Amino acid sequence: MYKTHNCGELRVSHAGQQVTLAGWVHRRRDHGGVVFLDLRDRYGIVQITINPNLSKETLDLVANIRFEWVLQVTGKVQKRPAGMENPKMETGEIEVIAQSIEVLNPAKTLPFMVSGEEQDADENTRLKYRYLDLRRERMSRNMVLRHRVVKFMRDYLDEQGFIEVETPILFKATPEGARDYLVPSRIYPGQFYALPQSPQQLKQLLMVAGMDRYFQIARCFRDEDSRGDRQPEFTQLDLEMSFVHRDDVLALVEGLYTEMIPAVAPHKKILASPWPKLSHREALDKYGSDKPDLRFGMELYDLSDIFAKSDFRVFQSALEAGGVIKCLVASASADLSRREVDELTESAKTLGAKGLATLAVTAEGPKGTAAKFVKPEELEKVKSRVGAKNGDLILIAADERAVANKVLGGLRLILRDKLNLADKDVMAFAWVVDFPMFAWNEEEKRWDAEHHPFTMPQMADLDKFDTDPGAILSDAYDMVCNGYEMASGSIRIHRRDIQTKIFQLLGLKDEEIQTKFGHMLEAFEYGAPPHGGMAPGIDRLVMLLADEPNIREVIAFPKNQAARDVMADAPSSVEPKQLKELHIKIIE
Ligand code: ASP
Repeated sequence: MYKTHNCGELRVSHAGQQVTLAGWVHRRRDHGGVVFLDLRDRYGIVQITINPNLSKETLDLVANIRFEWVLQVTGKVQKRPAGMENPKMETGEIEVIAQSIEVLNPAKTLPFMVSGEEQDADENTRLKYRYLDLRRERMSRNMVLRHRVVKFMRDYLDEQGFIEVETPILFKATPEGARDYLVPSRIYPGQFYALPQSPQQLKQLLMVAGMDRYFQIARCFRDEDSRGDRQPEFTQLDLEMSFVHRDDVLALVEGLYTEMIPAVAPHKKILASPWPKLSHREALDKYGSDKPDLRFGMELYDLSDIFAKSDFRVFQSALEAGGVIKCLVASASADLSRREVDELTESAKTLGAKGLATLAVTAEGPKGTAAKFVKPEELEKVKSRVGAKNGDLILIAADERAVANKVLGGLRLILRDKLNLADKDVMAFAWVVDFPMFAWNEEEKRWDAEHHPFTMPQMADLDKFDTDPGAILSDAYDMVCNGYEMASGSIRIHRRDIQTKIFQLLGLKDEEIQTKFGHMLEAFEYGAPPHGGMAPGIDRLVMLLADEPNIREVIAFPKNQAARDVMADAPSSVEPKQLKELHIKIIE
């Protein structure tokens, strides 16, 4: 071994011991003849003190040592003199008095500093030199946290009787609503594997195989346009169980998270236990979102009945068109400036509204754009319904129900940030259940699966297949937290006839059903057990637990926002010979 101890583990109890350490030069300071080197490894940082009484050779060597050189240092651990302790360092009560130093490898001047919490390099530079970026304490902390999360999941599920099974990466298209990554076959000209968008089909087949309880830390591949916080590949805790109903799956996952969060991130508090359960409809109506942030109230109210006879054109025309008048209340915000209200109105428009009506409740009477159109008796009813007090600002959207919900749901999050309504250390987990089975795709004039096509419709709705597919609810569920969707899952179809019906309703021709999913349908005929499962995302969870702004910060080697690996420079061109072997011609 190059070392007897790790840099970060030394304490006063080691005083007097001779140790050998190996690590990187984190900082250096020269103090009147004495040089201090902070030596760093994954476990922490320790101060190495170089006294001027060392050999000239060693002192010359030390004079040249720069940031991030790799050293091996032998020396004696000593309690620091009184008054010289550094309470900010875990090893701050001791120092190592160097006896000998060996340079294991020097380092060029770095593209950015590794020491220091603040990272000023731009993200592409960080990603190009990710191996240096990962040396930084914040990143190394994130990697350790990620490891803890995954290890906790593995141990917990093992105890619950789950087994981890690997499933293929080279497979066939598994629809989760995205584009597939395809891998051309050399052996079969013109044929392709698809990388799994999730192990969905395979985990269901493992249930047919009698595995009963399966999980996998699974990589999923989805070729989506890179927008926002997405990665072409990401990681899920994929799990599946046989002979279960919805609430069995929810209880298992709720139990896992309830034990895991305090164990891996003790500063985070789970808001409510048991987790609230909202129907999809309720989530949209109350919070304007199917992934509501429940760390704060600010619910949406329907005022349509109160304004049924309104003289306000905007309200009238929304109601005449079959729409609604809904609102939310920003408390103590009646005095927002003109500019701030304009900004909210602009945001409302970006979210799809034609405009935003405001009603400020003040001691001198109502103010805001809707004030002069609202009759006193209407105002009283509104105030009592929404519980508004003097000083509150009521924001009103009059539109189709879906638009009004989306607009107010969006404003609710903007106000959350503006008014500081949500505590980042609170985790407000909840279940959203009873999703619609299908969503109408207006562009393509067909039904899409709202979750995925293997989801079981609710039995009570089976007779609506031919009459009203849009009204069919499914046995799908989402886990949400702080405004994010953290997991999706469902009870699955395990019968050939129902699965075929779903494929047909989604517009697949019989032949297509056979070539794409024949293996699933056949499997269902050999004694498939009732089963269900879900797949919590790991990247987003670690992001929240680490207080990071995006998932790239918790993935060791992520793609950048334009879906490129800027370190290895991928994707990249390949040799003509390789293309030929794959029977591929590039069309410019
Ligand atoms: N396969 C689904 C997904 O990736 C999760 C599930 O239904 O278990 O979202």
